[in-house]
Amino acid sequence: MDLRSRVRLSGEESRVAMDLTDLSESRVAEMVAQVTVYFRGERELYFRASDVLTPGWKTAVQAHFSGKLLESVRTVVLKGARIPPPPFYSEAIALSSGNFPDFVHLASITYLDIIVFHDEIAARTLFHGLVHAAQMAFLGIERYTDLYVRGFAKSRSWIAIPLEAQAYQLDTRFAMSPAATFSVEEEVKAWTAQGLY
Ligand SMILES: [Zn+2]
Repeated sequence: MDLRSRVRLSGEESRVAMDLTDLSESRVAEMVAQVTVYFRGERELYFRASDVLTPGWKTAVQAHFSGKLLESVRTVVLKGARIPPPPFYSEAIALSSGNFPDFVHLASITYLDIIVFHDEIAARTLFHGLVHAAQMAFLGIERYTDLYVRGFAKSRSWIAIPLEAQAYQLDTRFAMSPAATFSVEEEVKAWTAQGLY
């Protein structure tokens, strides 16, 4: 998910008051299962329309990602169409007092190894999506989703989810100095080893 395109959500009336202490372990586990199904389903849906990364884009980011990852990741550019809000959207809004993005206005969303862009691919947006693809490839979809949902349940803010914060930090680092060499996969390993997710 892309932070820069986040929009303020309108309509206070859509925010449902919810007792935040209600989020039991069993509910979190249900949410993890629901989000995993969602990621897998969307991945299958978009796969048919996806393309491999162009040589130009591979070159642009090859100092930061392994060849293996760049060979496996595929992209979809939706020209005009928008990704609808996910099925858990209203609950996520309620739990976070609105601190959850409207998917329709995000620049891109990564579904495992497929990055779906609303508009033309841009370097920083691609980088952000690739960070998520690297996180998912290293952690596996179950663990990624578990950490994502638990990060959200703890922080009640999409931006503060560590997997999202890392993607934002690294895409900022790339945007500030594209020539600097660092390995995103090493960063993902280090965050995992240090328990930062
Ligand atoms: Zn993101």
